[in-house]
Amino acid sequence: MADGRHRANQPAPNGYDASSLTNEFEQLMRTKRLNRLHEPSRSHSNSPSPSPMSSSAFPPPPTRAPPPPPSLGTPVAAPSPKSSTTPTALRGLPIMPSPPQDPASLKFYNLLKGLSVTPTKYENPGLLDEALSVIPLDRLYSEAEEESQIMQAQAASVGGKPEWGYQDCVIRALLRWFKGSFFQFVNNPPCSRCHMPTIAQGMTPPTPDETARGATRVELYRCSDTSCTAHERFPRYSDVWQLLQTRRGRAGEWANCFSMLCRAVGARVRWVWNSEDHVWTEVYSEHQRRWVHVDSCEGAWDQPRLYTEGWQRKLSYCVAFSIDGATDVTRRYVRNFSRHGNPRNRAPEEVVLWSIHEIRRKRRENMSKTDQRRLIKEDEREEKELRCYMASALAAEINNMLPQGLTGRPEDQKHPGARQEASTEWLAARGHGNSGPDRSREGR
Ligand SMILES: [Zn+2]
Repeated sequence: MADGRHRANQPAPNGYDASSLTNEFEQLMRTKRLNRLHEPSRSHSNSPSPSPMSSSAFPPPPTRAPPPPPSLGTPVAAPSPKSSTTPTALRGLPIMPSPPQDPASLKFYNLLKGLSVTPTKYENPGLLDEALSVIPLDRLYSEAEEESQIMQAQAASVGGKPEWGYQDCVIRALLRWFKGSFFQFVNNPPCSRCHMPTIAQGMTPPTPDETARGATRVELYRCSDTSCTAHERFPRYSDVWQLLQTRRGRAGEWANCFSMLCRAVGARVRWVWNSEDHVWTEVYSEHQRRWVHVDSCEGAWDQPRLYTEGWQRKLSYCVAFSIDGATDVTRRYVRNFSRHGNPRNRAPEEVVLWSIHEIRRKRRENMSKTDQRRLIKEDEREEKELRCYMASALAAEINNMLPQGLTGRPEDQKHPGARQEASTEWLAARGHGNSGPDRSREGR
């Protein structure tokens, strides 16, 4: 459903103009200078209270950001969240966190706070033991060992560093097994009496048993065989214990169960929520010292541009939740906001930032100072990485506007997530049309 809406709203690819690009470029240069100014002071000052709030990755605002340029053909009266240019927060311009004041902002904060609980449920030794008992660990470890050795040999032959480490290879093996033989994708569940396809009949209330097992919504299907007419129930479980048993579902069940299994094999994991109705996983790569996109439904590893440049979706918010807090990771997935961004109008950016900081503060308040400082450093490193994506995307845009042959393709060569080709080549290689697979349209 979300998919149809995106396509209908999608402007022509030339719906942005050079003046807004120039403006964004100037902003970026300003931010860069600002960063440079703040760098020395940040590394010397050792804040006595390492609360995520006070040591925000955003420097304090010496000047207000100038208003976004009026874009062609859109009403000028629209305030900044409605603008089609990159939202302030995504440009990395300094904004001050501010608590929600109006009902819409409060609602968005409460939504994020509710979502942030999901990955905390993985921290249950009994659950993780149970999960480990279903994973063919020996097989995955030996696959990982083999792949890791191949990567080392390849790297040695060119005198470089292997692209991925052993731990990354373990997750890659887990991903192949999870998608290939553990979890099943369900659109319409087949009739359990005669195995014929079924027809959706809408929602039905959960039975006491389904409720007890954590289902809040149950979909009802009727067998398409007129001589059978049996009904099939499809309870949507969000409880990871239950998912270890049922082993089926759509993106929601996949991301939830896979994230928990990553945790079970010892990875640091994030559950990523997207406001346009998709969810996926991020795993921390110690080898590359960054968070890596993993979509278990798609078997996708480190392809953060899959949704925008691959499926031509428009996204507004992508927020990653972990036991250490929350991070707005939209810039990892939407590299070109004027082309692939949906309006971020659920709450002012100051409120979004405050909400993220508040979730971090709650998750980290009982941690040691050492751990808190480590996480702040990591947040800062990630903020730099995300800004770098914006800079690369802009550079690529400007590059594309120059006459052919003058320059190379900086974006595809310089940053870590840029291994995929441009969208058309990418799609051709995958052999599909201009949208994601049908099943992702079914929602979570
Ligand atoms: Zn049947």
